Amino acid sequence: MKKVLVLEDETSIRSFVVINLKRSGYDPIEAGTGAEALRQMDLNPDIKVALLDIMLPDMDGFEVCRQIRATNSKIGIIMLTARTQEMDKVTGLMTGADDYVTKPFSPAELTARIDALYRRVGESDDTPSDEVVQGPFKLNFRNRTLEKNGERVRLTQVEYSIIKLFMDNPGRALSREDILYSVWGRDYFGELKIVDVNIRRLRIKIEDDPTNPTYITTVWGYGYKWGI
Ligand code: CA
Repeated sequence: MKKVLVLEDETSIRSFVVINLKRSGYDPIEAGTGAEALRQMDLNPDIKVALLDIMLPDMDGFEVCRQIRATNSKIGIIMLTARTQEMDKVTGLMTGADDYVTKPFSPAELTARIDALYRRVGESDDTPSDEVVQGPFKLNFRNRTLEKNGERVRLTQVEYSIIKLFMDNPGRALSREDILYSVWGRDYFGELKIVDVNIRRLRIKIEDDPTNPTYITTVWGYGYKWGI
């Protein structure tokens, strides 16, 4: 099982994270204090990713991060920061965190970040994650397939690449140029319109109501955003 340490003293947030991690195939190890988190790290040397809240009753999350990092250079660490704590991102990365997620976060965003980090740190793992689940969607990297509510959605390779880009960046506005460069490559000299054409086709395939899209939304004058 893919163990993830969840250090969060607020039980409602912790349960929310734990439920969503389990749903995505992870094995969450819970801790409500910094001391408990460090103890769990000792007990579970196979934890590959740690989620660390910053404001804790006994010590701050940065100190926990520093102590974990002191003995473990390989583990992936994601700090859970509050919206108002802009500086925490810098401090967190300085103390050895790999990434941060700002509260309140969506389950899709958190899972995508953990998946990404897990892939990076867990390369030697014998059960590499080859799929990501977000809402009703399941994307399989190995077979390059997409399912919605268990039903296969037939995609072109370009459409697959766009969905993969979206699912790697949940909740983030992507410009049409971002999508063009990422999917068609920087050498592609076609028109941006090709992005819109493909998005229109994708919406017909994946949206419940393509005329009123909720998964791929338009960011006017800029591009598109993926949300679950
Ligand atoms: Ca807290």
